[in-house]
Amino acid sequence: MTAAALPAWNLFKQIFAEHWEGFTRVHPRYHTPYYDGLVAKMLGCGDPAKMGYIEYRCLHCGQGKHLVAMSCKSSLCLRCAKVYVDNWVSQVSQMLHEGVIYRHIVLTVPEILRKTLYQPSNIVLSPFMRCGARCLDDVFSRVRGKPLKGGYIMVIQTHGRNGQYTPHLHCIATSGGWDPQAQQWSHLEYSPYPLLRKKWQWHLLTMLRQRVKTQEIRRLVDTCYTRYREGFVTNVQKDDVPSRYQSLATYLAKYVVSPPISLRRIDRYDGHRVTYHYRSHKSERVERETVDVYTFIGRMVQHVFPKGFQRIRYYGVQATKTFARLKGLIHEALAKVKGIIKDAIKIIAPMTYRQRYQRSTGRDPLRCPACQHEMEVWRILHPTYGVIHDELEAIRRGKYASQAPRGDPTSRLGRTLWPTPGGISLSMPGLW
Ligand SMILES: [Zn+2]
Ligand SMILES: [Zn+2]
Repeated sequence: MTAAALPAWNLFKQIFAEHWEGFTRVHPRYHTPYYDGLVAKMLGCGDPAKMGYIEYRCLHCGQGKHLVAMSCKSSLCLRCAKVYVDNWVSQVSQMLHEGVIYRHIVLTVPEILRKTLYQPSNIVLSPFMRCGARCLDDVFSRVRGKPLKGGYIMVIQTHGRNGQYTPHLHCIATSGGWDPQAQQWSHLEYSPYPLLRKKWQWHLLTMLRQRVKTQEIRRLVDTCYTRYREGFVTNVQKDDVPSRYQSLATYLAKYVVSPPISLRRIDRYDGHRVTYHYRSHKSERVERETVDVYTFIGRMVQHVFPKGFQRIRYYGVQATKTFARLKGLIHEALAKVKGIIKDAIKIIAPMTYRQRYQRSTGRDPLRCPACQHEMEVWRILHPTYGVIHDELEAIRRGKYASQAPRGDPTSRLGRTLWPTPGGISLSMPGLW
């Protein structure tokens, strides 16, 4: 975290520390162990004693020392958001296939339906994502004149720039799809916008009518058909995404996984009211907004998905293992169309704690500042299990008395740590 973001982070924590309890009294639906846990974890984030840590020491000269606190990974934690984004980018970019042309499509929901999609459970959110994929298959098939199965990476996003609840889908879609009859890949140069709009409207409204069987929904659906005769708003990135953006996933991450209100945007908190700013799509200007503290907390927590909810989903050929089989055929088909875009998609490995630290400070955190030797794990404190590794103890027990080769300590830096040979393996919360 940069020094500039620190004061805002402290404000953010203070707001939750002072008002979370009061907020849950007013909004009892958030008074659950799940939300309380997210808040508690977020408040403890960065505190080595509460969250656990790994301590490194220089075993060469004994001077160098470095403490790495565990991150909380709470979806409410703005401090962990950056790590989350990095991991997200890595996950998505590994699912993209080199040479395949993808397009970025946004499927929106008109304002009058947003409340319907604000459900505490998975009643509509999962079907919402699924019907996005169905809609695109439908459009592709209609354009081609026979059934096609595309590949889609669907990401649900619930907030607009000011943090309000505006659910919509970001879709990374293959341009065209698999034709099961002809057993070949069928490339589509474009998707007709008016058709996409109308189809999206039909698929979304049909899904809502089937899932939420109330009078009100029936009325809303009718209103939507009369009010939006052109269908619902969809955006299609004009160019083939990979040719324009070196990394589609990095480009998407900006839109999709950024927190509702980023740390840098909180300007003021006086104990009752919070002021923050954002760049408005409408006016293209920086807008400032002051809201009372419960509204602020509400805007943050309304974007937390139900426990276990998958925000990124893979559909169609993108989802199946047969993609590997289809890949050659897809490449062949695309080569005929316009030549393969070589290395269009960069595969990005997630950065380790060490790399992130080095990038932001220019210093290798695990190199001893005194003698430049690599430091080693000295002590690991797990938030639940206490001290699970103690090098000093190991030395006392005669760890180095034998000539047995020592393992490379850096290889233990993953999510799972094996403290001692034959010891227990524990899953650790993420590392900073
Ligand atoms: Zn040293
Ligand atoms: Zn955190």
